[in-house]
Amino acid sequence: MQQLWKYLRRGRATAPALTPDPTPSRGFPAFRFDACIACGRCAPVCPTGVISIADDAPALVRTWSLDYRGCVRCTACQEVCPTQALVPTHQTQLAATSARDLEGVARFQLVRDQSGALVPRRYLAWRKETSHG
Ligand code: SF4
Ligand code: SF4
Repeated sequence: MQQLWKYLRRGRATAPALTPDPTPSRGFPAFRFDACIACGRCAPVCPTGVISIADDAPALVRTWSLDYRGCVRCTACQEVCPTQALVPTHQTQLAATSARDLEGVARFQLVRDQSGALVPRRYLAWRKETSHG
């Protein structure tokens, strides 16, 4: 009670925190477009299914998207990404004026590989680079 009166007299409602939080939360993953090879490994491991990969074969386009509204910041996508295109942050809160602003979207060109399968151009280049060294 004495302590309360002391703070009330000072005009302060709460005491300052004694120590900073020793366990900062994991944040939302940041997406680095330049590093992404559109391999699609991140989508199936996402427990909430908020990463999607959609191919438009006639247009030769692969669309990658991440809806941050359903992200639980588990880091599973970062762990499987071979190129560190998804990187950790300390951002634990998001604010936006529209739902669209909470979605990350990227588009990649598809090409045919030697077997005739459609693959992202970047993925093909990465596969050649990594198999040579
Ligand atoms: S951090 Fe987890 S929930 Fe969020 S996009 Fe990655 S895999 Fe999905
Ligand atoms: S795993 Fe990484 S490189 Fe592959 S599509 Fe996802 S973000 Fe891009």
